[in-house]
Amino acid sequence: MKNSIAESMAFFASEEFDARYQYDGKDLGAGCTDESTVFKVWSPLAERIELRLYRDGTSGEIWRRKEMKAGPKGVWELEFRENLHGMYYDYLVRIGGKDTPTADPYAVGCNCNGGRSMVVDLRKTDPPGFAQDRAPEAAEESIIYELHIKDFSYDPESGVPECYRGKYKAFTVSGTGEEYPTCVEYLKKLGITHVHLLPFFDYGSVDEAGDEKQFNWGYDPVNYNVPEGSYATDVSDGTVRIRECKEMIQALHENGIRVIMDVVYNHTHSNDSWLQRMVPDYYYRYQEDGSLANGSACGNDIAAGRAMVDNYIADSVMYWAKEYHMDGFRFDLMGLLTVELMNRIRRELDEAFGPGEKMLYGEPWSADDSPMEDGTRAAQKENAGYLNEGIGIFSDDTRDAIKGSVFYAGEPGFVNGAQGMEASILQAVTGWKDGGACFMPKSCGQIINYVSAHDNFTLWDKLVLSMHGEKADFDRRYEDVLAANKLAAFIYFTCQGNLFLQAGEEFARTKQGEDNSYCSTPELNMLQWHRTVEYGELVEYYRGLVSLRKQLPGLCDKSPSANRRIMDGKIHGDGVVSFRVDNKASRPSRWEELFIIYNASPEEHAIGLPGHVEPAAGKSVLSEKGRTQDDIWEVLADGNETDCRKKTGITGNRVRVAAGSGMLLGRPGPEGARTGE
Ligand code: CA
Repeated sequence: MKNSIAESMAFFASEEFDARYQYDGKDLGAGCTDESTVFKVWSPLAERIELRLYRDGTSGEIWRRKEMKAGPKGVWELEFRENLHGMYYDYLVRIGGKDTPTADPYAVGCNCNGGRSMVVDLRKTDPPGFAQDRAPEAAEESIIYELHIKDFSYDPESGVPECYRGKYKAFTVSGTGEEYPTCVEYLKKLGITHVHLLPFFDYGSVDEAGDEKQFNWGYDPVNYNVPEGSYATDVSDGTVRIRECKEMIQALHENGIRVIMDVVYNHTHSNDSWLQRMVPDYYYRYQEDGSLANGSACGNDIAAGRAMVDNYIADSVMYWAKEYHMDGFRFDLMGLLTVELMNRIRRELDEAFGPGEKMLYGEPWSADDSPMEDGTRAAQKENAGYLNEGIGIFSDDTRDAIKGSVFYAGEPGFVNGAQGMEASILQAVTGWKDGGACFMPKSCGQIINYVSAHDNFTLWDKLVLSMHGEKADFDRRYEDVLAANKLAAFIYFTCQGNLFLQAGEEFARTKQGEDNSYCSTPELNMLQWHRTVEYGELVEYYRGLVSLRKQLPGLCDKSPSANRRIMDGKIHGDGVVSFRVDNKASRPSRWEELFIIYNASPEEHAIGLPGHVEPAAGKSVLSEKGRTQDDIWEVLADGNETDCRKKTGITGNRVRVAAGSGMLLGRPGPEGARTGE
């Protein structure tokens, strides 16, 4: 076994293999038009391949069977002079004299649970108006809201009709919640710009024929180019999931929100995948002892770096972007993929849709080591310098500096009592462009700032655990936790880079201390909409930060020199830092300078305001032009309010910053002062 795997690996990695078999055509799968249906598969080791057609998704009766024709580059082909839309199919692949049935890895449709592929004339799956569907204009800032489709509307208080709860269709329901908006109405009010949806390509951990009580995050792909069936209202017809998924995206676009897809190209649900059945061992990495590599901690690693693996992944991304109008992609365990592949995907998206139009970012790490192909670089954090500037990485440095380790519940960060974090926090402000992390980003555009995501504790649970211990009550309203939550949000919303939050972070979402809820009940995972009222003050705080952030070009700037806008970083004492931001911009901006203070200490601090005009010799700032600093600076946000315009806390030349809170001040420029905005 060891030798044969080693030989296979050497053969697959050889130039000879690529020269003979690398196929760059974009027509693999079942292409279906009015006149014809063309089946094409890539299977260079096969001795014979038979196509089997079925009239439906479940019966065992084969309607027609026909042998495929072998062509160049290991591609097998079969053409029918008819439109076979709605037919189901699979293949019988003979390798080493043994016939193995398999669905089509390039399929765009499938039956219930995905074991049989479906021929789909894709134009027939477009909801009305889909051809005219366009993403909303790009906003001044990307504020990404991470959401699971079932979490979104499973709660009976979601305001969504029961038949649509937990489904794609929930996103198409308007007017939800009335006085206290829920679902899409709520997202619109919150002001986020992007929804990032946890995996919704067809995954294997939920029985699509089973009941609604099942739950999984969905990081276990089966059919990469087909939407998951358990989010559709009907799985008996494979076109329904496609149409309803498109309706979801269309509805979000109509409501001004862009859509990002969480993609999992690093491993498959089963080692016995369609990829494996079609070309045994080609798509996976193996250890020297012949065992499957497991850098994903999910049983296998896809062999990114091989020509046809990279083609498969890049083609799949392009398919979702074109066919479903996806606006961006979040790569799960991107560290298992390669820098070369990620840069290629960036390039192909830019060529097809315009530079930067589609967002790309990922987790710049893996769960464990994985044997990479020779001559490739892992898309890990330390290789960020090799990644295109338009590929973002989650900043675990920012996350952990603000609220502590994700692995140790009790370990605090800056906002919940850690000592000596001041310098790190100031480095986080420029997206680590000024150094301090183990890598050097090209610009803060490469940084995704966040403090909570689906993995690990919710922010609320982490703060409760670290501030009140293991026996804490997650449903209790702890005022100190609420303050720490606000300060954590205040900090990352005033860091340069992209902003990302887990759905519900803004209403103290709790999973009762469960840090890995991937297969917990839907009740534990779902967004509990009553909390948006119960913690309405926190929601308002976030809503103000979202609104305010879009008005601060000095923080939104993603250019490589944006870090130069951050000036005079100062540590005033334990847990107290401040800095100034050059907020001048080509677009209208009321404030030409910002002054930002983070006070995580248990005491109020009075901080000197920066002088407006350099005083002439012998003159004090206070007497300059007869104005004092309290005439000049406006408080835009403090520990309780955001997007406010007030003078609270400013006395003469100093501003008082309450214990455990932040303060953001703006100095209007001549234009802003004149217009009064
Ligand atoms: Ca599925």
